[in-house]
Amino acid sequence: LAGTLSAELRGDFPIFTHRPELAFLDSAASAQKPRQVIEAVAEFYAHDYANIHRGAYGLSMQATGRFEAVREKVARFFGAGSPDQVVFTRNATEAVNLVAYSWGLDRLRAGDVVLVSEMEHHANLVPWHLVTARVGARVEAVRMTPDGRLDLEDYAAKLARLPVRLVALQHVSNLLGTVHPARELVRLAHARGVPILLDGAQAAPHLPLDLTALGADFYVLSSHKMFGPTGVGALIAGPGRLGDLPPFLGGGDMIREVFATHSTYAGAPARFEAGTPAIAEVVGFGAALDYLDTVGMARLEGHERALLAYALEQLRPIEGLTLYGPALDSSDASGGGRSAVVSFNVRGAHAHDVASFLDEAHICVRAGHHCAQPLMRALGVPGTARASFSLYTTPAEIDRLASALREVAAFFAEEDGA
Ligand code: PMP
Repeated sequence: LAGTLSAELRGDFPIFTHRPELAFLDSAASAQKPRQVIEAVAEFYAHDYANIHRGAYGLSMQATGRFEAVREKVARFFGAGSPDQVVFTRNATEAVNLVAYSWGLDRLRAGDVVLVSEMEHHANLVPWHLVTARVGARVEAVRMTPDGRLDLEDYAAKLARLPVRLVALQHVSNLLGTVHPARELVRLAHARGVPILLDGAQAAPHLPLDLTALGADFYVLSSHKMFGPTGVGALIAGPGRLGDLPPFLGGGDMIREVFATHSTYAGAPARFEAGTPAIAEVVGFGAALDYLDTVGMARLEGHERALLAYALEQLRPIEGLTLYGPALDSSDASGGGRSAVVSFNVRGAHAHDVASFLDEAHICVRAGHHCAQPLMRALGVPGTARASFSLYTTPAEIDRLASALREVAAFFAEEDGA
């Protein structure tokens, strides 16, 4: 079962033809690109390229149409009510910064709290550190449970006791794969009248999303983790959420009128898209969403769940290997779960040495703190190695990982004993 989808789709990804030796297990950092995306970008440059939004000529108007059609596609794909709720950014990081500098600088006051968690990626921490320092507000973190989930009691208690002005939490952990109960997180924040930003960088590539039903005020994601090009991300805001926010970056394309001494600004989303955007890459992102539509997110999710179960079954018995993250069956009544990421350490070895060992066997995994240093501290380790799976991952690649890890673990066990 775990191999059906990858057997069908792997041929769409040219990198695996060019590098047949690779076991690419680092899709959580960035996904490989299907030929449909690569060709859409090349075709757009070859046939239809011009700058957008400013041309009085047909080619530019056509390019504008292609670009704006992707905004509609993004709204439809993620279940946002209107394309006007979609702002294109460079990546998820820039989308968080947009909210921090626009919403945060405008709305946060001295003494206010931005509530994050100790599991966050630095992209959803550092912008809040920068902005709260400017206004005299502060950042507080919700604790993690010992099995790697968000401590919902601590979340509710902090919402009740602290002067929280904004909640900013990840939807899925890049390190542990924990799928947090997003609807419950939104419900609890809104019950206190607090807006919530969800970092969907690791959720959007794996889960079917209906952002209208989810109800978060701000949702951020990156194209490159969803088989699309680099250089494109999105902020998807709740209805009416962008209306009265001040601009983040200033320049061309985001203004109503400019005088030498002052300016007035366009409405949303144009107000948040200063300068020439990543036009061809946005077109490529549209092709990636078409690709995912054809595959079907529910099918993708099923495939990855089967792969994860298979991987845990293969890896758990390995002597000297510590696996992190919640149990597969840990999904609680409020809708959490686990996505296809496995972090681990080998007893006696540094995570970087484990990754180098695997690299010699052409197995690509990531090692280090994974831009989540507070989470490393909570786990009490300097780093981990991480294997992450995607629609093109095969059970055979997981077998190779397990077999290489058995060797690594045996090698370091001998070193330990020596
Ligand atoms: N949040 C999470 C949970 C992530 O895993 C990542 C990417 N590693 C980001 C945010 C930032 O994404 P990007 O680098 O594309 O801005």
